[in-house]
Amino acid sequence: MPIYFISDLHLEESRPDITQAFLQFMDTAQEDASALYILGDFFESWIGDDENTELQLSIKTRLKAFTDNGASLFFMHGNRDFLIGELFAEETGATILSDPSIIQLNNDPVLLMHGDSLCTGDTGYMKFRATIRNPSFLEPFLKRPIEERRITAQQLRAMSQANNQSKSTEIMDVTPEEVITEMSKHQIKTLIHGHTHRPEIHNIEVDEQPAQRIVMGDWDKEVWYLKVEEDQPIALLHYPLTQTNTVL
Ligand code: MN
Repeated sequence: MPIYFISDLHLEESRPDITQAFLQFMDTAQEDASALYILGDFFESWIGDDENTELQLSIKTRLKAFTDNGASLFFMHGNRDFLIGELFAEETGATILSDPSIIQLNNDPVLLMHGDSLCTGDTGYMKFRATIRNPSFLEPFLKRPIEERRITAQQLRAMSQANNQSKSTEIMDVTPEEVITEMSKHQIKTLIHGHTHRPEIHNIEVDEQPAQRIVMGDWDKEVWYLKVEEDQPIALLHYPLTQTNTVL
């Protein structure tokens, strides 16, 4: 039974087409999946597990049906939805993975990351990342009323969009040396990540051995996913967002 990987859907109210494509994807995946890994930026925004918008409720219900049916669900935080917590995990039957995590796929260890921590050239972002993930910011933030949290999240988003406009495409991508360092440190020959929205299988070398960096795509225009079947190479696949009657 195959294992599927997705990331960077950026689910939000203003993109019902992506929500629809995800529900469709789940209906098809449900037929044969043993597990689904969601590697971050699943939601465009997450200000705490207690928000419960209509969109969030419908997605949680769909994920719960998936795990109730016997499949496993693993979730890793992205930079947009790192506030997803234990309540979400309980409500959906998901297991939250730390970033990075190592899993076994076809008897090989594989390193999973969201990918933002590899973009070390973006020093402004790395600083911001450390600040907003610090408990001294997060604990008081999560205690504030939902409406206040929404406003703060919007302000942070506007700031980050303004900052990103002046950044070069190289800075917004992963730092190649950081990829090698991480893979070498964990003695890993396969890395799977998202975040950069640049889907591709990169054949690289780590410690003088052939290695692969597999980058998943975002769902703005196409559904991107990985399919892993027993004794088969990892496949990076995609189809148009609006396609129905999908075969994964
Ligand atoms: Mn991201």
